[in-house]
Amino acid sequence: MICCAEQYIQLRPAEGTSGESSICATTSAGCFIGAKMKFCFSCKQVKPLSEFNKNRSRKNSHQHHCRICQRKYQREYEKTDKHKLYMLRYNQSEKGKAKNHRATSRYHQTDKGKLNSKKCSERYRIRHPERIKAKDAVHNAVLADKIPCIRTRRCYFCYEQAEQYHHYKGYKRKFWLDIIPVCKKCHRKFHPAEKRMHEKRMHEILDRFLNEEM
Ligand SMILES: [Zn+2]
Ligand SMILES: [Zn+2]
Ligand SMILES: [Zn+2]
Repeated sequence: MICCAEQYIQLRPAEGTSGESSICATTSAGCFIGAKMKFCFSCKQVKPLSEFNKNRSRKNSHQHHCRICQRKYQREYEKTDKHKLYMLRYNQSEKGKAKNHRATSRYHQTDKGKLNSKKCSERYRIRHPERIKAKDAVHNAVLADKIPCIRTRRCYFCYEQAEQYHHYKGYKRKFWLDIIPVCKKCHRKFHPAEKRMHEKRMHEILDRFLNEEM
């Protein structure tokens, strides 16, 4: 199929056909006979069928536009308000959340993802030294048996397993041990600005990640 891929030629299929032909359009010697070719309606080129995405709505059928053209079209469409609004709704739906969650954990397993989360936590340490100090104070208090370990506590709000301590009075030294056990989900509600920023950044990263995966 290599020779077909190398020799994209201009050819318009007969009116009323899908553009798929069972014989390679180039009949030169050495051509892979029987390689399925298809006409792309966007770039007006004949390309091997393997360069077209499958169209799931029709069995065994392919898109009318080759992968490269489809991706170009997709990029343009992503800039429209219609798409942005759709994504906003999708990301809030259960299906969207589940998909993003899966993609996020896939991303965190890559080298890039690991490096990025390391960078994120470094940035956090620099931006919020007072929080780090407060957190360390709690950590030390746990080690000194002054405060029970978080694993033995339930979330103050939803009674699920607690995962973090929340400084409900702020991060001043005198409030370092004024804490309540919370689960991550409930904890996020107390830091809405960060939650928004984190989500925004994560969506951008995910978009790029999923595009690269495509
Ligand atoms: Zn094309
Ligand atoms: Zn909770
Ligand atoms: Zn908190």
